[in-house]
Amino acid sequence: MAQARCRYCGRWFKSQPGKGGRQKTCGAEACRRKHKRVLDRQWRAEDPLWVRARQAKVREWAEGREYWKEYRRRNPEYEERNRAQTRERMRRRREEERRARAILGDPVGYLRELRARCGEDVCKTGTGGAVVVEVVEYLMARELFAKQEGPDSRAGV
Ligand SMILES: [Zn+2]
Repeated sequence: MAQARCRYCGRWFKSQPGKGGRQKTCGAEACRRKHKRVLDRQWRAEDPLWVRARQAKVREWAEGREYWKEYRRRNPEYEERNRAQTRERMRRRREEERRARAILGDPVGYLRELRARCGEDVCKTGTGGAVVVEVVEYLMARELFAKQEGPDSRAGV
């Protein structure tokens, strides 16, 4: 019988007859669970439509029995933490957008200013890295808006 190594715990094991050498785990509960998670992740990655259909089903199930309403009632701290996280996320997002908008409102002016500063002292004093950071920020600003256009343009397909 062929020996194989469990990819989760590293133990050697003899594959069970009937599995034709396709056995991936040593058979321990923990390793089988890990393997199942890997397979599930693969499955989801390969079939986003299935994932969406599944999410809709779960949502329907949860709504039917007011699952989340009940969960929030039993765990009030969950809702408060969620609110705080959302507030912080939105604040950071608005700040990023405000900065991106300022840069993209006058990209040429922004780059001209960078170039001028580089010509003056920033690069010469060896802190040119700061300018690189700002160029990256400019590119990030472009990226931010490019991403926002992405889902909308795809929705029409
Ligand atoms: Zn194992």
